[in-house]
Amino acid sequence: MVERNGPDRDASAPTGSPHSPPPSFIEQANVTEPALHETFERNWPNCWTRAADLLSWDEEYETVLEDEDAPFYRWFADGRLNASYNCLDRHLESGRKNHAAIRWEGKRGERRTYTYRDLYVEVNEFAAALRDLGVEEDDVVTIYLPMIPELPIAMLACARIGAPHSVVFAGLSADALATRMDAAESEYLVTCDGYYRRGDAFNQKSKADNARIGLEQDVQTVVVDRLGDDLPHVLGENECDYHDLRETFAGETVEPVSRDAEDMLFLMYTSGTTGEPKGVVHSTGGYLAHVAWTSRAVLDVKPDDTYWCAADIGWITGHSYIVYGPLALGTTTVMYEGTPDYPDRDRLWEIVDRNAVDIFYTAPTAIRAFMKWGTDYPSRYDLSSLRLLGTVGEPISPRPWNWYREHIGGGDCPVVDTWWQTETGAVTISTLPGIDEMKPGSAGPPLPGIDVRVVDEAGEEVEPGQTGYLTIGRPWPGMARTLYDNDDRFVTEYWRRFSDPDAVNRQLTSPHSTESREDADDWRYFSGDTARVDEDGYITVLGRVDDVINVSGHRLGTMEIESAIADVDGVAETAVVGRSSGTGDTEIYAYVSTESGHDSDAVIQRSILDNIESAIGPIARPEAVIFTPELPKTRSGKIMRRLLEDVANGEELGDTSALRNPEIVGEIQAEIADEG
Ligand code: ATP
Ligand code: MG
Repeated sequence: MVERNGPDRDASAPTGSPHSPPPSFIEQANVTEPALHETFERNWPNCWTRAADLLSWDEEYETVLEDEDAPFYRWFADGRLNASYNCLDRHLESGRKNHAAIRWEGKRGERRTYTYRDLYVEVNEFAAALRDLGVEEDDVVTIYLPMIPELPIAMLACARIGAPHSVVFAGLSADALATRMDAAESEYLVTCDGYYRRGDAFNQKSKADNARIGLEQDVQTVVVDRLGDDLPHVLGENECDYHDLRETFAGETVEPVSRDAEDMLFLMYTSGTTGEPKGVVHSTGGYLAHVAWTSRAVLDVKPDDTYWCAADIGWITGHSYIVYGPLALGTTTVMYEGTPDYPDRDRLWEIVDRNAVDIFYTAPTAIRAFMKWGTDYPSRYDLSSLRLLGTVGEPISPRPWNWYREHIGGGDCPVVDTWWQTETGAVTISTLPGIDEMKPGSAGPPLPGIDVRVVDEAGEEVEPGQTGYLTIGRPWPGMARTLYDNDDRFVTEYWRRFSDPDAVNRQLTSPHSTESREDADDWRYFSGDTARVDEDGYITVLGRVDDVINVSGHRLGTMEIESAIADVDGVAETAVVGRSSGTGDTEIYAYVSTESGHDSDAVIQRSILDNIESAIGPIARPEAVIFTPELPKTRSGKIMRRLLEDVANGEELGDTSALRNPEIVGEIQAEIADEG
């Protein structure tokens, strides 16, 4: 382990001491060219052919980027390909048919391994079945399944016949499913009878039934029997059984449909942390190229690896880095149905050990939980197979980052902190583990070819150390193409704020007009996040734009206050929100969960207040510190600050079905009532 902690580093910098990737890692890494960033710069946009060349094209593309209709960019637009062919057939053709594609770990300890050949067979059978049900190219198929192998199989079957899929997270409510099916006018649904939740059978089909009642369109439904006799179900009109279909179409194959690179591969809703979920549209060619490239360059995935992204496929991370990225590269991807703490808190480490997992990718929320549970659990297992660790989804502060590297990565695994969004499709900010030094608490530099700039209100780049808005100046292959059926909202939501107003106006008043356009430089994507950049160009993502509290005229970032709290020994997680006092002022409310899980702790409370005062100042001192055993989380594991703000303000709470732990909200409300 090489630790550099030169005297020239600002001791007050919020990032931890930097780490260089160990030589043993660099020696074997996929991507190690020291000048890769410069090479991409010099050859932009042609540099992105490196990504596209990882794919097999039915028809080679001639043009890399078309930007005439910005911000509706087109990548590799005259090329043709099929995503399912790229994830399956070509690996069979290259002699890897007996290589494991998916290792599935079920909630009840069941295990299933699919070789590339097995996966190919089942995807083909289901593709034939979907066609027989009437699914045609470009029809949107909704998939409402938990983490069972039929989920990626259904996705790939859709991709094979050119039908975009829309995966709805299995834990979402009937209403949420209905809204999404309605918006996409989707007439096909793949769901299941139910699934196990902490050992109990939980009815999924009744939610699907309820969702369909309110829909105008008739829906053809395929039901996977996950629970067998544990939850008997009957099939109604327009419903058929997945396993019956497989029997009917046993051994059938379907020619992969050649798609335009710009044809929609899927539609995916954002997790809804900041507002109503948005239906993000992803392309076939650019998306697949970008996820394959980042799987290779950032996650260092190799065909012979056992790779595990412990996210849910109902979230973009699972689409890009459980299904499409790793399968495009022909590796073994682990798919886990359960939770990290069932039947015990060592479940993940047992799976890493038994499967000799090489690469492990998870979210900060999980890492903070591991830290809270203590080192006993991982130390029972041999985790030495791990070569690289990754994190995504929220900012991660140095303490959990270092804990992860130390206790899961054995002190020498590189950790990549990857910043990206549903809308970016694939990773856009991260260190390259074979090249870049890591700084805990900072995601790292933009990836080669990605033009991230942190800017002020006027769009000017801010000085190092200053906080600004995280924007992206040039297009990138994996970027969203639009919001489903809503080009206008795509422009206003992501582009209006920092792009040239004339260019925006023209696009809004005469959409897709063929008149000559202004310079492509007129366009700048706004992520909705705030960030800070350091002298080396490393970006620390601070949080959402809305996460700013105005206390007596001072604008305080909640993330800043949260970092000061998270630094206190014994604190596991925290979220800070504003509460309007009767006098029109805003007060700071801090929610805290401790490592020991105790309700409240006077020593910790004291340290929290001291730390905030010394890190930021007395102005940031919270009005209340509320201890809670857990914080409310979305299904993708993000802290639901919006809801905590409503709770602090005593406001009515909307639909909490998107929460992973809705029961905690009542406990927090009671706690606040006690305080008051
Ligand atoms: P919505 O857009 O509907 O509010 P969402 O933004 O939570 O939902 P996602 O696209 O799943 O939906 O999440 C992307 C967001 O997650 C980013 O904008 C950023 O705020 C956060 N994020 C992701 N990775 C990181 C990271 N490595 N560091 C900091 N923040 C991250
Ligand atoms: Mg978002």
